[in-house]
Amino acid sequence: MTHLPPSDKALVPFVSVDHMMQLIHRIGVEEMLRGLAAYIEADFKRWQLFDKTPRVASHSAEGVIELMPTSDGDVYGFKYVNGHPKNTAEGLQTVTAFGLLADVASGYPVLLSEMTLLTAMRTAATSALVARTLAPKDSTVMAMIGNGAQSEFQTLAMKAICGLKEVRLYDIDTAATRKCAANLADAGVTVTSCSTAEEAILGAQIITTCTADKQYATILTDNMIGSGVHINAIGGDCPGKTELAPAILHRAEIFVEYPEQTRIEGEIQQLAEDHPVTEIWQVLNGQAAGRRSEEQITLFDSVGFAIEDFSALRYVRDQLQETGLYDALDMLADPDDPRDLFGMLRRARPS
Ligand code: NAD
Repeated sequence: MTHLPPSDKALVPFVSVDHMMQLIHRIGVEEMLRGLAAYIEADFKRWQLFDKTPRVASHSAEGVIELMPTSDGDVYGFKYVNGHPKNTAEGLQTVTAFGLLADVASGYPVLLSEMTLLTAMRTAATSALVARTLAPKDSTVMAMIGNGAQSEFQTLAMKAICGLKEVRLYDIDTAATRKCAANLADAGVTVTSCSTAEEAILGAQIITTCTADKQYATILTDNMIGSGVHINAIGGDCPGKTELAPAILHRAEIFVEYPEQTRIEGEIQQLAEDHPVTEIWQVLNGQAAGRRSEEQITLFDSVGFAIEDFSALRYVRDQLQETGLYDALDMLADPDDPRDLFGMLRRARPS
């Protein structure tokens, strides 16, 4: 197999789930999380260049299917992603995804990739990038509430990027906690399994909520949250799907990716439309303050934004040449004469 991205523009490099797993292992999970965080930070710092729109969501009783497009003017990208909390009971993932990058000048795709694993990696890298910016200095303990598919990635990113030393796990399903604890057994962090959310947050400077339930859930109540913590709220990412009691939102300084999308999907859908929030790209750029005091509660109301996927796809594309971990996909018609599409079809007629 060639180790160069195909020079034939009609062949599109495709990164399968198998190739993505090989790529992550070859680079190393924590090294790749750091790499993704660096790409996301670089793109957040040039935020104004991007075309931005809330994601296009198609809701059903059971879940949601979404398209997440963006462009920096040279490259266009989108992700297809679903969110179906009931799927795990049927042996299916809650979240699956794939994504594409295209050359704006020609409109030709230049990368197609699996993004189920990549979404878990980019979500974790974003969480840790934001926690590094907002969490109390020298945070070493995180409560991880919701121990499903995202949870190990979240923990490893906090270790790789923020220096996490202990994770305290809680899930309503003890099998999920056992799975997460087993997966993290040799990760180099102390893993403590807890039997309540209250127990999990004891001594934690960072509290991550990453549960999946298509309703206004209350994973954290106001009395559980002491001063000075950083809350990384991942699971409330859809209209009618939240995790935090509104009183916590009124006590916290709230940081978001793209307000226009977060007001539809995030925890702040529970607040008035003009409730002040800070855009995280402005903090990374030095244009807005992050944490202002040791007592302040900071909240990252994460919903996942298209630019993070664009950054992740850009990162993967930059690894292709060195690793060769892709297939060249015949997905674009390529007639000898661009106007003779029908002639190409005729010549392929079975004799
Ligand atoms: P998952 O279904 O694999 O895991 C969710 C876990 O939450 C399950 O183990 C479930 O038992 C647990 N849970 C449900 N209710 C709970 C409760 N009340 N208390 C404690 N635990 C509870 O899902 P996942 O792939 O890990 O995703 C988790 C959430 O994160 C989903 O809601 C998903 O939509 C969201 N998500 C957000 C982003 C983002 O960028 N913000 C990215 C990916 C996923």
